[in-house]
Amino acid sequence: MLYNSTQNKNEIVSASQAIAQGISKDGGLFVPQEFPKYNSGTLKSLLSLDYKGIAKKVFGDFLSDFSNEEIDECVEKAYTEEKFGSENPAPLVSKRFNGNDINIIELWHGPTCAFKDMALQILPHFLTKSLKKANLNKDAVILVATSGDTGKAALEGFKDVDHTKIIVFYPMDGVSPMQKHQMNTQEGNNVKVCAIEGNFDDAQTGVKKIFTTDEISKSLSKNKMMFSSANSINWGRLLPQIVYYISSYCELVNNGKIKLGDKINVVVPTGNFGNILASYYAYCMGLPINKFICASNSNNVLTDFINTGVYDKNRQFYTTISPSMDILVSSNLERLLYKLSGNNDEITKDWMTKLKTEGRYEVTPEVKKAITSLLYGGFCDDNETKLTISKMFKDEGYLCDTHTAVAVSVYDKYVAETGDKTPAVIASTASPYKFSKSVLTAVKDGGEPLMSEFDMVDKLYEITNAPVPKPILSLKNKKSRFSDIIEVDNMPKYVLKALGIE
Ligand SMILES: *Cc1c(COP(=O)(O)O)cnc(C)c1O
Repeated sequence: MLYNSTQNKNEIVSASQAIAQGISKDGGLFVPQEFPKYNSGTLKSLLSLDYKGIAKKVFGDFLSDFSNEEIDECVEKAYTEEKFGSENPAPLVSKRFNGNDINIIELWHGPTCAFKDMALQILPHFLTKSLKKANLNKDAVILVATSGDTGKAALEGFKDVDHTKIIVFYPMDGVSPMQKHQMNTQEGNNVKVCAIEGNFDDAQTGVKKIFTTDEISKSLSKNKMMFSSANSINWGRLLPQIVYYISSYCELVNNGKIKLGDKINVVVPTGNFGNILASYYAYCMGLPINKFICASNSNNVLTDFINTGVYDKNRQFYTTISPSMDILVSSNLERLLYKLSGNNDEITKDWMTKLKTEGRYEVTPEVKKAITSLLYGGFCDDNETKLTISKMFKDEGYLCDTHTAVAVSVYDKYVAETGDKTPAVIASTASPYKFSKSVLTAVKDGGEPLMSEFDMVDKLYEITNAPVPKPILSLKNKKSRFSDIIEVDNMPKYVLKALGIE
């Protein structure tokens, strides 16, 4: 299977090249030229497999220049019981909310307590193998722009991995105190963490610019280095996320909630559009999905886009209690648009150029129609998010984090609006203990707690009895290693200096 750029169909690469490079030279994103097709026979054969088994099958179908042994090795190293707390890294739990059954897929049992681990525990293995295959003889420099969770998950995945270096940029005021502490205490000899004066979009634009600046790439090349990306623009990030939509479908069939072939709805708290795109790709492979419910917080650029066909990032940016979704430029939407426009690279390039120059584009009526038939877009504000956490806890004794609560709240609106009761899988993307302050104010009556981050963790446990993930407990006494804060314009200089090649 080969991959091409969303902005130039003639830019064709192998799977390992797509992963090693991260982004295409023309600024486009790599997409598979076609999708493997899973009919009901294929899905049936997956029912008896565990998570790792399904992962191996899916990766084998997409990474055609990897041997089975290589794929097995990657999977076995990534999804260990030690790292994910149990044999199934993505358990499905059934709850009720407001009279409706919901199936919550908990994607946050990995080392950094957010769903990003599902992909970032395996990406370094994919990447080091890809670099070897491409025979590049270069070290990979991973540049990450993070709204909080990607950064830590990437640092954890890449720490002390041979032939890699990783530099993470995060918005100074745009991440939770726990996320900041997680990143600034990161161990490893090949890691660097830096705050920028700006928001996530500034960080992401800065990283993209560095990637596509020829001069910088050349000086890396001279020093036997090359850039790669751990953001969800990298194919190696998206691919692992397809697996858990398939595995959760199989689990619903296995426990009798649906019959093989029945459709499900998926509900995804969305920022950069990576996670929900992975569910769409599972659908392209044949997974029976009825509706993709795209849940946003007050940064509801996607809700408006789905409803109007106009993407307009010229709007106020809000800092919310679901910070990993505080995003106005959802990079992976580009991949959806490419597919829905019938693999039209020219029109995709045109829209993405308009986004860069005017901050706005409008899709064609045909693409708009395809979008409205597949997707539902909704959003909720911080107040609704807290009410959802509180209601879920009161009714079900189940504690969810702020991002998951956005998804539950939007799903509730969807059912009320449409009456569609197709069984739903809701992606739960973080542990509530990563956002203790907001979750605590939601479940506890009274005002904002005035406590240190770890006192809030203790308090939240005292009130809810929800188990505190081990990685959070172990952070308590760790010392900060990083404290740099820079202006966005200084990012290129910072990178070269960090690599010792100014
Ligand atoms: C990254 C993240 C999201 C958004 O996922 P995208 O793939 O960027 O849409 C949602 N919730 C949490 C907790 C996250 O870390």
